[in-house]
Amino acid sequence: MIKNDLEKYQVKYQENAVLKEYTTLHIGGEADYIVFPNSISQIQICVTLFKKYQIPYTVLGKGSNVLVLDEGYRGGIILLDDNFSDIEMMDKTHVKVQAGMTLKGLCQFCLTQQLTGLEFACGIPGSVGGAVYMNAGAYGGEMKDVVESVIFLDEHNTIKCLSGEQLCFHYRQSYFSQNQSIILEVIYRLEIGNFQHIEKKMTELMNLRYQKQPMENYSAGSTFKRPKGHYASALIKYCQLQGFSIGDAEVSKKHAGFLINKANATSKDFLTLMHYVQKEVYEQTGYLLESEVQILNHQEKTL
Ligand SMILES: Cc1cc2nc3c(=O)[nH]c(=O)nc-3n(C[C@H](O)[C@H](O)[C@H](O)COP(=O)(O)OP(=O)(O)OC[C@H]3O[C@@H](n4cnc5c(N)ncnc54)[C@H](O)[C@@H]3O)c2cc1C
Repeated sequence: MIKNDLEKYQVKYQENAVLKEYTTLHIGGEADYIVFPNSISQIQICVTLFKKYQIPYTVLGKGSNVLVLDEGYRGGIILLDDNFSDIEMMDKTHVKVQAGMTLKGLCQFCLTQQLTGLEFACGIPGSVGGAVYMNAGAYGGEMKDVVESVIFLDEHNTIKCLSGEQLCFHYRQSYFSQNQSIILEVIYRLEIGNFQHIEKKMTELMNLRYQKQPMENYSAGSTFKRPKGHYASALIKYCQLQGFSIGDAEVSKKHAGFLINKANATSKDFLTLMHYVQKEVYEQTGYLLESEVQILNHQEKTL
């Protein structure tokens, strides 16, 4: 039994874990297991055990860019969160951080060290691992601008390192979107800045976010990627879909690019709304909106 092995290696875990508690959309059924490893060797043990017991598995950070299906996930989730979030200065401008650290925590650390370059990310509610996986970005900045290198586990459970240039960062895409790896640690390359300037920029960007985005609702951020030459939110607005809802899933009245869960939306509501929006936008404008939200599906996302 995997439970006995997890206990033997002192890996914290939960059985039949309700995944909506682990995502910002607050949708989704149970996973058979969630494990909470607190070191690289514990992560490797989890991978070894999931392989040994032929249990499909995947990794999650803060769950701020995923839709979990109502039927849940038949397998194991490796959760890299506060349990795996050490941070340290390597030299005056390089910060090394474990994948479970929040971007908010990382940005606060940079502020105290008077390091500039990551202000754009302070309001993105993800983990460092999720942000690198997605090449998260906002207000003109992206992970690709500041990632020096990434240490990860490859599909054979071996520790590897690639430089930022080798990680094929593109719009909301990275090497990791195509490869079955677990991001462990990220080294950021920043610049020495001024405490007041960094703090002012972060406050401005946070205020802007709260003004424009439905931060008070459950969501996974922008539901769709920006199509070439346009904005998803402008297209959705043009099609008069703002406020349109299916069950408790709604196109946000505050920001058309965000599909939200008003309270008890199911994944079926959310997916039906997504498909409806895609169809209407395509028929009325010719633009095909591609999902930015990752759908947690053990057939597609098994590492
Ligand atoms: C209100 C709101 C605002 C947002 N604003 C922005 C924004 O401005 N810009 C932006 O880019 N995004 C934004 N997002 C989306 C989201 O926060 C980012 O994509 C974030 O980087 C996801 O990080 P996460 O830890 O939550 O990843 P998760 O949602 O947990 O996972 C996302 C994907 O990354 C993979 N993953 C996670 N951790 C690892 C790891 N350690 N190793 C390998 N794979 C991993 C998962 O398997 C999954 O496929 C927003 C979301 C919300 C809710």
